[in-house]
Amino acid sequence: MRYERITQGSFLERPNRFLAYAELAGKKEVIHVKNTGRCAELLKPGAVIYVQESQNPERKTKWDLIAVEKGDRIINMDSQIPNRVVQDWIEEGNLFEDVRLVKPETTYCNSRFDLYVETGDKRKIFIEVKGVTLEENGVVRFPDAPSERAVKHLEELGHAVKEGYEAYVFFVIQMKGVRYFTPNRDTHPAFCDALKRAQAAGVHVLAYDCEVSADSIEVNEEVPVVLGSPLLKESVEPVVAWYRKYRRDLPWREHPDAYRVWVSEIMLQQTRVEAVKPYYERFLEAFPDVAALAEAEEDKLLKMWEGLGYYNRVRNMQKAAQQVMTEHNGRFPQSYDEILKLSGIGNYTAGAISSFAYGIAKPAVDGNVLRVVSRLLASDADIMKASTRAQMERLIEEVIPIDAAADFNQGLIEIGAIVCVPNGEPKCEICPVAHLCKAKAQNIQMELPVKTKAKARRIEKRTVLIFRDNETVAIRKRPVKGLLAGLYELPNVEGHLTRKEVIEYGKEIGLTPIRVKKLASAKHIFSHVEWHMIGYEVLVDELEKNCSEKMIFAGREEIDRKYSIPSAFEAYIERK
Ligand code: SF4
Repeated sequence: MRYERITQGSFLERPNRFLAYAELAGKKEVIHVKNTGRCAELLKPGAVIYVQESQNPERKTKWDLIAVEKGDRIINMDSQIPNRVVQDWIEEGNLFEDVRLVKPETTYCNSRFDLYVETGDKRKIFIEVKGVTLEENGVVRFPDAPSERAVKHLEELGHAVKEGYEAYVFFVIQMKGVRYFTPNRDTHPAFCDALKRAQAAGVHVLAYDCEVSADSIEVNEEVPVVLGSPLLKESVEPVVAWYRKYRRDLPWREHPDAYRVWVSEIMLQQTRVEAVKPYYERFLEAFPDVAALAEAEEDKLLKMWEGLGYYNRVRNMQKAAQQVMTEHNGRFPQSYDEILKLSGIGNYTAGAISSFAYGIAKPAVDGNVLRVVSRLLASDADIMKASTRAQMERLIEEVIPIDAAADFNQGLIEIGAIVCVPNGEPKCEICPVAHLCKAKAQNIQMELPVKTKAKARRIEKRTVLIFRDNETVAIRKRPVKGLLAGLYELPNVEGHLTRKEVIEYGKEIGLTPIRVKKLASAKHIFSHVEWHMIGYEVLVDELEKNCSEKMIFAGREEIDRKYSIPSAFEAYIERK
């Protein structure tokens, strides 16, 4: 859209919302200001402005204010132009295909929307257009003054969606070269909330910048919209830059293909980075790819996992590997939604695989990220609640950079692991987002995140029995369902038995004790239960012949090589 009869001038002052004085060709002139917003950051004395001469001789003011220079930008200030440029742009075939009708100023319920569009495939679309001129540090915001009318429009658009229409709020950024758009919470919090509600109701929220010159304006490129947390958006660059400089060299970061990321992420959910390294190398050597994992024998698989705990996770990994083989022809799926469908893969792991391996802009929110973001935003939401995690995922998804998704996700995780640490004081002095962090500003780092205590674990007393002769030890397989399902264990019974009771029990199962030695007590903590164990070493004669229970009698070397005994029995099993 091109303006004619444009003249350059210098802004002097603005006595009221509608009028301003400016110097044009050495003369003081009265200028009509169409944009009735405050625009105080733009209309400063001495600012270079562009005005249009009116062709209407009846008008009192001969000039209309069209644009103003701010730094090296020209900002269009014509409040009537956004509707026109969007209409032209849609008529040119942008945004919708096969547009049949574009009608301005269309009434729906109690609102008049700026544009109504119909397409060849019978889409009926209402669009409300908002011009944006308020800019600071590359961030543009709307409104620059409270606007109840704008809130009402948003509500009506939500209503239109329910009635089967499509609805858009289209923010026209009347300048070029901005970083993102965000609603202005300082001027009108109700508008910000209404915009979020509208989006949740299905209204599309779009922002486009414009190519602007002294005498023209055209819709140009889409601009990111941040409705959740502008502060989180500001953290993106420092987090990515910090991660690229300070990230630790870890084996799974060398070739981050989907399989390797997956294996490492499941292992890292069990234990510390340092402890994972040898497991990771060993596992990849045994099962170098999805096909090998899918075909692995269960005992070998469990043996490779021995010591990591949560054996169901590796069983699920095998199920998922089998899914990849049968449903995806052996190729790891490459979309977040497909990855999420694999057995044992939740939002975090799907986000980690899809962003680290494929660069997909999906969040990967683990405990580290929950802690960092809670502190950064000084959020007192309980991170044990699924709704808090979902909310954090939404906030991150909105700001995650499409060209650095992996580094941003990993940066947040890494900051949580080595800077904003879980135990003890966070190292704010070396934190790349310290200048943004609200918890630091309020000195409440140690009070966050809010985490309700998990339910107390059930205590189970057990007696572990090492039945052995001179060469072998008795072990048995656990049931296929329940705790430590399908793994091998030292025989054990509920309760704390006395020496006499152990002798009786031995006799009952056909293993007559020659000597019984009491061992030290031990404790093992599972997620919902604690085993408080005592143990006895029971020397017997001729193990295999007399035992009535289904046991395996194996030498230490054989146990180490073949049978996976969970770490719950660590205190009672001697390793080679
Ligand atoms: Fe955590 Fe401190 Fe960084 Fe805030 S400034 S995110 S509290 S390390």
